[in-house]
Amino acid sequence: MKKKLHFNTATIHGGQSPDKAYGAVMPPIYQTSTYAQKSPGKHKGFEYSRTHNPTREALEKSLANIESGNFAFAFGSGLAAMDAVLKTLKPGDEIISTDDLYGGSYRLFTKIFKDFGLNFQFVSMYDTKNISNVLNDKTRLIWIETPTNPMMNIIDIKSVVDLVKGRDILVAVDNTFASSYIQQPLKMGVDIVMHSATKYLAGHSDVILGALIVNDKNLAERLRFIQNASGAVCGPMDSFLTLRGIKTLHVRMQRHCENTAQIANFLNESPKIEKVFWPGFKFHPNHKIAKNQMKDFGGMVSFVTKGADYKSAIKIVERLKIFTLAESLGGVESLAGHPASMTHASIPKQIREKSGVVDALIRLSVGIEHIDDLIADLKQAIG
Ligand SMILES: *Cc1c(COP(=O)(O)O)cnc(C)c1O
Repeated sequence: MKKKLHFNTATIHGGQSPDKAYGAVMPPIYQTSTYAQKSPGKHKGFEYSRTHNPTREALEKSLANIESGNFAFAFGSGLAAMDAVLKTLKPGDEIISTDDLYGGSYRLFTKIFKDFGLNFQFVSMYDTKNISNVLNDKTRLIWIETPTNPMMNIIDIKSVVDLVKGRDILVAVDNTFASSYIQQPLKMGVDIVMHSATKYLAGHSDVILGALIVNDKNLAERLRFIQNASGAVCGPMDSFLTLRGIKTLHVRMQRHCENTAQIANFLNESPKIEKVFWPGFKFHPNHKIAKNQMKDFGGMVSFVTKGADYKSAIKIVERLKIFTLAESLGGVESLAGHPASMTHASIPKQIREKSGVVDALIRLSVGIEHIDDLIADLKQAIG
């Protein structure tokens, strides 16, 4: 399934064909658990919906296509997709990941899989040397997340791939924040791309779904086996919604990026603001890497207001009217979050502040509304 179409065409047509039964242009929602057999084992390619479902299959073909991969697997959530990757490993194997990982990924690693004998090392991945310092002959997986949440740090994907080249080590990238539109890790030599499709791919804050995309046939076979054997699959309705979301991914992402660039610049010029975190700034410490490996700078931006403490940061997010105060990101509507009291509340203050998540930090998932309304809303909230 080699990619021939331009990205903006692949989102709509990639891997897709009209439904075989009646020519429906959108794949029907095959809300069925099982499929009639003419005689035992004689069927139309589908037996049981944990193993295969036509709507999920249509989504998986689209996912493989937009991520420039050969095989894709859809799961009930982003974390269920990660769970499947970790199940390819054995007790004693080591995983290296970044020390400012998404909280749910950190919890899955340390509170579930550590008890099954997997060992985890968390290092600052912005310097590849920190990875080579902990690399050893038990290392089997490097788990990258870039850009990171909520500090918008950028990890150099290619340099990590080069570091472990020729060794029996998989490199995986959580591509949720960038989306397939902005970043294509498989093209950089990565083995596994993971998405919380809940965010930009589905894009409308109405579904929880996860995905894995790979090129290697053996790895794909193993993941297919785990997907069916462990059973954390997504349902046909959620597959349909995600597929529909993907069809507008490119136009949504363009507007997300444009709006975010304008908001980042507005915040950066405001005398009320102390610091803005967005990889599009020339002064961002990893701006060059971001420019190299990303097509644009994404829809997320974080900032700290001058002199704000915990309470006044909360006041700012409470005053927002168009930005909704909520967890999650990547939908068409703008959201604001206060990491210290929301997504990162479970991390002790000292550790949290070391990575930059101070009490006054506010994170925005910039939607695709009119930019003037968004900036006006920020202005009135910041005061
Ligand atoms: C949301 C998110 C996840 C988890 O995905 P779910 O669909 O919520 O299970 C993983 N990684 C990142 C970067 C996320 O933002």
